[in-house]
Order: sequence, then C-alpha cells, then structure tokens
Amino acid sequence: MSTTPETTLLEKVTSLCKRRGFIFPSAEIYGGFRSTYDYGPLGALMLRNVKNAWWKSMVQMRDDIVGIDAAILSPPAIWAASGHLETFTDPLVDCKNCHERWREDKIDGVCPKCGSTELTEARAFNLMFKTQAGPVADEGATAYLRPETAQGMFTNFSNVLSTSRKKPPFGIAQIGKSFRNEITPGNYVFRTREFEQMEMEYFVPPADAEEWYRYWIQQRYQWYLDLGIPADQLRLLEHDAADLSHYSKGTTDVEYLFPWGFDELEGIANRGDYDLSAHTAASGVKLEYFDQGTNERYTPWVIEPAAGATRAMMAFLLSAYHEDEVEGEVRTVLRLNWNLAPYQIAVLPLSKKPELESVSREVLAKLQPHFMVDYDVTQSIGKRYRRQDEVGTPLCITVDFDSLEDRAVTIRDRDTTEQTRIKIDDLLHEIWNRTTPA
Ligand code: ATP
Repeated sequence: MSTTPETTLLEKVTSLCKRRGFIFPSAEIYGGFRSTYDYGPLGALMLRNVKNAWWKSMVQMRDDIVGIDAAILSPPAIWAASGHLETFTDPLVDCKNCHERWREDKIDGVCPKCGSTELTEARAFNLMFKTQAGPVADEGATAYLRPETAQGMFTNFSNVLSTSRKKPPFGIAQIGKSFRNEITPGNYVFRTREFEQMEMEYFVPPADAEEWYRYWIQQRYQWYLDLGIPADQLRLLEHDAADLSHYSKGTTDVEYLFPWGFDELEGIANRGDYDLSAHTAASGVKLEYFDQGTNERYTPWVIEPAAGATRAMMAFLLSAYHEDEVEGEVRTVLRLNWNLAPYQIAVLPLSKKPELESVSREVLAKLQPHFMVDYDVTQSIGKRYRRQDEVGTPLCITVDFDSLEDRAVTIRDRDTTEQTRIKIDDLLHEIWNRTTPA
C-alpha cells in the first residue's frame, strides 16, 4: 500500500476497528480466512444500528412498505427464473506471470500485482455458492445460498399482497445475509463473500414507474446525508443506457468517496416487470395485481433500492473518523451520528469508591431502557473520555462526590467537549432534548 493520506485513513480505521472491538478478521486463531470478518461487541452494536436506521426509514415510518425475512437456502428454480444461474457471472482472468486471479472488468488489461499484460482468456465464473440440502447428493438436493435478498420479495409477492392488503404503490423490504463467491474480495469489508444487504422492492403501476424511480433515488441519497455523511463525499451516478443490464430501464448508484475514489454504496434500479413476469412464466403462478377500481389486471413494475449494510457501515466509519486537538493533545474521535454510535452514552463514576457506585448504578438503570449505555470505572476520567471519543460515544455522564449531595451529574459532549451539570431527575428530558431521532 502506498502512503497517501487516503490509504492512511483506511489503515487507521481498520486498526481502530480491530483494537476497539468493531471488526475482527474471521478465524484469526487459525491464521484467518481470506476476506471474511467477524463483528465484535462494538461492531455488532453499530451494524445493528445501521440496519435499524434503514428499517425505521423504510418500514416503521411508512404505511406503504412491509418487511419480510425470507430463507437464505433456496432451490435452483428461483435462480433459473431470475436469470442468476445463467448470467450471474463475472469474467475471470489469470495472470500468466504471477498466477494472480482477477475480474477482467476491473483491471484494464494489466495485472495490478505484477504489471504483466499476459492474461488468460476471460472465463465466465458463476458467483453463487452451491450446496446440498439433505444427505443424498442427487440433482434434487442442490441448493444455493442466496446472492441477493431481492428474490424473496418476488416469490412472496402474492402472499404479501393477500395478507397485508396493500396495493400498488407498495413495497416489501428485507435485511439479511447474502453470499457471492467474489473473485477478488477486498478493500476491507467493502467486498466480502458473505455480507448483509438491505433491499426493498417497490411495486408500482407501470405508468408511474419513472416518477417513483426518481423519488427513490432522492430518498436514498438523503438517508446517507441524514446519518452524517458529508455531501461532498456522496454523489449520484446514473448508468448510461448502453451499460444497463438487459432488464433494467434505469439504474442510478449512490456512491461514496472511499479512500480509492468514488464507489458504489447502493444501486437504485427501475426493473420494469422483469422479475414478476419471469417468476410467473417459470412457476405458472400469476404474480399480478387486480385493480378493483378499474377492473384491470396488470403486472406491477418494480423500483429497487439495493444497499449493503456492511458496506454502509464502512462508509459511516470512514467519514466519522477525525483527529483533533483537545487541551493541547491530539485525540481520535468518531463523530458518529447518535443513531449509529455503538453506545449513545457512557456512565463514568469519578472513582471506584463504593459510595459512588449506588448513585452511578441508579443513573445507569435510568438510562438503560432507552439507550445503549457503557459503564466504565477503570483509569483516569481523562483517559476514559478519550476511549469513549474513539468509539464515537456522543455523551459521557460523570458521577462525582458532589452528586451524592446535589443529586446532579456532569454531561460531556463528544464533539464540543463542553460539560454541563444536570439534575439526575432531569437527565432523560435533557438527553431527549439534545437528540433528534433518525
Ligand atoms: P458490484 O458491481 O460492486 O459487484 P453489484 O452492483 O453487483 O456490486 P448489487 O447486486 O446491486 O451490487 O448489490 C446491492 C448492494 O449490495 C451493493 O450496492 C453493495 O452495497 C452490496 N454488495 C454487493 N456485493 C457485495 C459484496 N461482495 N460485499 C459487500 N457488499 C456487497
């Protein structure tokens, strides 16, 4: 790796994530397992917050979208109908000189490792993980790990339509693991073989599809802004008509300025009636909507915002990472949005003396039903503030000996480092006032 400021940022964030328990290399005690990662105590909290923020904006805050949680294991029929068995492939080439393996469309005809132009002919490589369901390895036992969550929404279209009583325009949302046997995983958690997606299929009358496509591009772009990614690190990139997949009527990516340049965070596509029609043809079950108002039966078109939860978390971490100076000392601070920070609050008794414990635990118990709260009694208060800054905790609450007399505590703000004295009885009110729920 060269030592441009950008690669240094990636190294700093990777190291912080390891050191503080966000993200660990998987199977580390066995030497690791290439490009797979485990989310540690803080990473699991943050990833959950990313997914909750998406679910809240896509499902909870709307009356036109419902959520599902479909199976990961799926029969070949789904992937034959969706086109994945035939076309979900990447062009694979090997470098004849150093034998490294690459995706042809990502390398410009030159091996990025050794610079050789001696590459093999491209071969189509299917990205789906194939496995076997049950003890007998015959044809009927073949199963696939889903490479995207979207098909669960299409195959359940009629089930959801009849049980939820929704009608177009309406959406089905899902968050979950997907698996792709990527030829060149890498750039930390940007591209891994196992990852989490957040996808929504929005079913609309065909005539309204273009309008809804534009609507969802704006909604999804705004979501990243609202959660703290600066506007100059985000952009929308509309694909040229010539580059669109055969079924797509339009695709726009939300891109984030990763250390190596702008790259995809999420794709928003107008998929026409491709998916519902393909499953109708393959299954013989009509996936249509009958509009009782107009007496018309039609196949809705689909607008699909498809995002990666793990990739989004990486972007939130990179954009939150800052180094500034507090009282003449450099500090590392993650300026994470309140809704994404692993802990919203840390309760810090000034000393380990038992007198402080009961009032500190009283404060902790008051906050825990509402927020994720850390409780830390080790080391000096200055060091504890730095530790909380480094993992992005927006508020620290210090309990000191005066608290026993005045029933008040000190709230310290991560970004301004400003401290305010607040009565314990007013704490919850004060915190709600300071924060805007996503
Ligand atoms: P790429 O062109 O980078 O391979 P894609 O365009 O095939 O990605 P989609 O199928 O549109 O990606 O998937 C939607 C989202 O899922 C992506 O925008 C990304 O955030 C996430 N995603 C896809 N593949 C991976 C992966 N291997 N690792 C992590 N996230 C991924």
